[in-house]
Amino acid sequence: MSALPDLTGLAAPRYRLAGARVPACLLPADLTADAALAVDAEGLARVDIEVEHGRLGRIAPAGHLPGEDGGRKDVAGGSASGDTPAGDEALPRIALDGRLVLPGLVDAHTHLDKAFIWSRAPNPDGSFQAAIAAASADAAANWSAADLRRRMDFALRCAHAHGTVALRSHLDSFGAQTDISWGVFAELRAEWAGRVAIQGVSLCTIDMAADPEALAPVVAAVRRHGGVLGAFLYPSPNLAAGLEALFDAAERHGLDLDFHADETDDPAAQGLLAIARLANRRRFGGRLLVGHCCSLAAQDAAQVDRTLDEAARAGLAVVSLPLCNLYLQDRTPGRTPRWRGVTLVHEMKARGIEVMVASDNVRDPFYPHGDFDMIEIWREASRILHLDHPVADWPRIVGAAPAKVLGLDAGRLRSGGPADLVITGARSIHGLFARPGTPRLVVRGGRPSEARAPNLAELEKEIARP
Ligand SMILES: [Zn+2]
Repeated sequence: MSALPDLTGLAAPRYRLAGARVPACLLPADLTADAALAVDAEGLARVDIEVEHGRLGRIAPAGHLPGEDGGRKDVAGGSASGDTPAGDEALPRIALDGRLVLPGLVDAHTHLDKAFIWSRAPNPDGSFQAAIAAASADAAANWSAADLRRRMDFALRCAHAHGTVALRSHLDSFGAQTDISWGVFAELRAEWAGRVAIQGVSLCTIDMAADPEALAPVVAAVRRHGGVLGAFLYPSPNLAAGLEALFDAAERHGLDLDFHADETDDPAAQGLLAIARLANRRRFGGRLLVGHCCSLAAQDAAQVDRTLDEAARAGLAVVSLPLCNLYLQDRTPGRTPRWRGVTLVHEMKARGIEVMVASDNVRDPFYPHGDFDMIEIWREASRILHLDHPVADWPRIVGAAPAKVLGLDAGRLRSGGPADLVITGARSIHGLFARPGTPRLVVRGGRPSEARAPNLAELEKEIARP
């Protein structure tokens, strides 16, 4: 039932994908306004998509491109791009028979430098404090350039095989580690260009940010490597000074900002409010992304309203990391967790705040599971955050929304856009989620990708403690 069709035609430079189901929210507005476009209860539209020389060509309601039986000649509006040379000529046709097709996926918040250390640095009790201790000890003992390169490259191979086209990674930027990690990051960014676009964010503490001597080398690394400036926020007497220093540096050097904030159930954690207020006061003009924001779910309604109103006014975006939150939040030995640990994405979206979800940690002391698979993140986020009644435009959270915040042309289906697709064997979103083993074919620049997720056993042998 959920097999892929015959896709040998994808090897051709030009072809037509006939009868694809795609999230209507990822199509251009003129196409969604087309009366011929049928949209089902999950928000999926049946379309034909042309691919020409690595880019998407015309996209039209199924059966309505020239050359389709019974099709009309007047393809709707701008979706029938005049700059494709096909004219009325029919391209080789690949029948998808209603299978779900997604644009390339975007993972806006990861930690490549920590990925896959679990086998040598497990979390003894699943707590946040133990995770920090285990990761710090592993960094001190093992994070050479060679070790980082092996694990980060392995992580990118996973993400690439699963259909991710762009990924942002936070990089621990403490002391001597800063230059080692950013150096490896820069090499891998160059090597992976054209396959996975990688962005780097500095990760230091808000106390470091408040100390000019500690912050200077972090800002220098970010500037040297074209990165994003970021820090980890928690209740601290240095919070205000640290934020001021980060905004100062960002404004002075034209940097975007990306924070970890309020990753706790402590209602006193109000980092998001502090960030939003400062961005509003300073009229910050850069892109601003804030991750986690878990404590909002533990605060009273008035406080939530105050924070979200400020956040909406600041134009900042929020990335929820639901799988790591489920693992780390509300964990007490012998006690069943009572809350999900996630932030208020529905309330944010209702205010016009751009929200998205991402992987966060993978197979490290902060989260022993995961595989840099954004379909898994979408599936689990849909269950945890109730992104399903209706599905509406929630599919934006794994592509279009993060792409906008990362400043990338990805995550949407538009004529002239990149032909980076994930063709699934499922015919519905529920079908895709119900069977995690549903086959998928990743298409890169119009061509089928042969990339497969690498074997974890090989990596674990390579990175084992000597
Ligand atoms: Zn994180």
